Amino acid sequence: MNSLREFLVQAQEHGQAIGHFNISELATLKAVFGAAQELKAPVMVGLSEGEREFVGTREIAAFVRALREEFDYPIFLNADHTHSLAKGVEAAKAGFDAIVFDLSALPFEENIRQTKQAVEELKAIHPGMLVEGEIGDIGTGSEIHDTAPDLEKGLSTPEEAKHFVESTGVDILAPAVGNMHGMLRSMVDGETKKHLHIDRIAAIKQAARVFLTLHGGSGTEDEGFRRAIAAGINIVHINTELRVAWRRGIEQGLAAHPEEVVPYKILPAAVDAVKHVVLDRLTLFSGGRKFAQGA
Ligand SMILES: [Zn+2]
Repeated sequence: MNSLREFLVQAQEHGQAIGHFNISELATLKAVFGAAQELKAPVMVGLSEGEREFVGTREIAAFVRALREEFDYPIFLNADHTHSLAKGVEAAKAGFDAIVFDLSALPFEENIRQTKQAVEELKAIHPGMLVEGEIGDIGTGSEIHDTAPDLEKGLSTPEEAKHFVESTGVDILAPAVGNMHGMLRSMVDGETKKHLHIDRIAAIKQAARVFLTLHGGSGTEDEGFRRAIAAGINIVHINTELRVAWRRGIEQGLAAHPEEVVPYKILPAAVDAVKHVVLDRLTLFSGGRKFAQGA
C-alpha cells in the first residue's frame, strides 16, 4: 500500500484533490467508505479532538486499519484540529496517518514556535505521519451559523505562508482563503455559496511549495472547488454537509419505521443520505476522471 504522501503526489500530478470527511460514528464511516469504494477513490477520514473523544482514538485507528487491510484499500486517518501536543502524541502513538496541528488562534510567532516543536516530537514518535499547520482565521465549529464571521481580516498572505512552512517544517498547510468552518443557514438552504480567493491560493502555493488543505469546504460553489484544486489545493475537508445529510437521514429513517427499535434497520437511511453527498463531492474533486491510484 502506498503512503498518503504518495497518493497526494499522484493526485496533484493528475489535477485532483483527495476528499477528507469527518466522522464520529459508524454510519458516516460506512457511507464515506462505501462512496470511496464505488469511485475507487483514495480517501481520508478525519476526527477532531471532540470527535475522537466520542469514538476513541485507538479504537478508530484500529477500525480504519482493519478496513485498509481487509479491503487492501487506501483509506487514511487524520487527527483533525488538534490543539495540544498531548492529544497529538495520542494520535501519533495510535498510528494516525496525518494530523492537523491547529494553533491558528495563537499569535503568529507563537503558532510557529509550538508547531515546529510539535513537528519534531510527533515525527520522533511516528516518522511517516504528515503534519499540517494552520494559519489565518476561518472560524470554528462545523455546524450551522446564524451570522457570518468577518473572513477578510484573517486571510493568509503568501509571505506568511512561506515563512510559516520554512520555519516549522510542516508537510501540509491550511491557509485562510475565503473558506470558513460551518455553514450559514442560507447555505444549507442552497441560497448562498462560499467564494474562494483563487489567485491567493495560487500565490500561496507558489510561495509555500507544500500540500495545501482547504478546510470548511461545505457550501462552496462547485466551480470554486474546481478552480481551487487547479490552483494548488490537495485536500478538501467536508464536514457540515455530511452532518446535515446525516440528521435528515436519521429523521427519514425514524419516520419511515415509527415502531422500529433495531438500529441497523433505521440507520441505512442516514448512510444513504451521507453517501450521496460524498459521491457528489468526490466526483467533483476527481475532475470527473478516474482517480490516480499511486505508483
Ligand atoms: Zn477544519
